[in-house]
Amino acid sequence: MSDPVVTAFNVRDLRWPTSLQNIGSDPMNLAGENALGYLELHTDSGIKGVGWSFSNGQGNDVLCTAVRSLAPRLVGRKLSDWTKDMAATQRKFQSGQIRFMSPERGVLQLATCAVLNAIWDLWAKSESKPLWRLVADFTPEQFIKCIDFRYLTDALTPEGALSMLKNRAKNKEDRLKLALQSKAVPAYNTSVGWLGMSDLEVKQKLTEATQAGFKHFKLKAGLGIETDRKRLGMVREVAGPEAVLMVDVNQIWDVDEAIEYMPKLADLNLWFIEEPTSPDDVLGHAKIRKALKPHGIGVATGEHVNNRVMFKQLLQAEVKCIACHKPTFFR
Ligand SMILES: [Mg+2]
Repeated sequence: MSDPVVTAFNVRDLRWPTSLQNIGSDPMNLAGENALGYLELHTDSGIKGVGWSFSNGQGNDVLCTAVRSLAPRLVGRKLSDWTKDMAATQRKFQSGQIRFMSPERGVLQLATCAVLNAIWDLWAKSESKPLWRLVADFTPEQFIKCIDFRYLTDALTPEGALSMLKNRAKNKEDRLKLALQSKAVPAYNTSVGWLGMSDLEVKQKLTEATQAGFKHFKLKAGLGIETDRKRLGMVREVAGPEAVLMVDVNQIWDVDEAIEYMPKLADLNLWFIEEPTSPDDVLGHAKIRKALKPHGIGVATGEHVNNRVMFKQLLQAEVKCIACHKPTFFR
């Protein structure tokens, strides 16, 4: 492994006019522009570390400013200064005077992600591995060293996590073989699901995706029962009864609205509703999950969950993640 020194960085404000084709349109964000706060770390070995965070267009300049406020800490340091203890590295980027700006929430959390991802990217490249392989090759002990357990230990201690990983290590080689055959985690298709597309566009994209082998499709919803039923019914008809359909409403409902709305679509056999309400409302998600369970509809969230503590609470409140809701999907 090489140990490059970061010599400089640059931050780019990248934006694509995706709203022109309604790509990414959902009930909360009808006209977003896909944008990135994009960080490049330059090194003395010529390897470049790249990290980025996504935004929806407006405000991407704020994200870039936040990345620029964190990235100078990397300049002049060796990669191993950071990678020898990634848990401490994560904590360092959330410590110091900047902690008053709530670095585990909002724009600073996004900026921290860009910086940490750039370090991970540099690490993988310096070992000439894809990032997934770098992580997959970790021993359980190395894996644990990458996690900051502060605030988590009431639910999971490092010792407990180590024991879980050691148990799972028994069939790690088998799972790696599946990963190398692209069979480890099936992907779902979202290109059929944007709200702003016409029925014809959806049908065309659905046919293409089905021919490409997709069996799982996620669609935006939440425009009213009749509108949703028309679109989802059409997709069910084209994709067939075996296809797995999921819906996402990007936080538009109050808790009780979600509980009232979703059972009216239960006959369409929907696997889960994603982000039914405020992403901060852990107890609200738990209430929705409990109410929808008898209807066979799960709850998914996490896209806008800010930090480790919220994920801990979601698990404590038994808002089960996708994998837990229907583990057979991942076999
Ligand atoms: Mg989503």
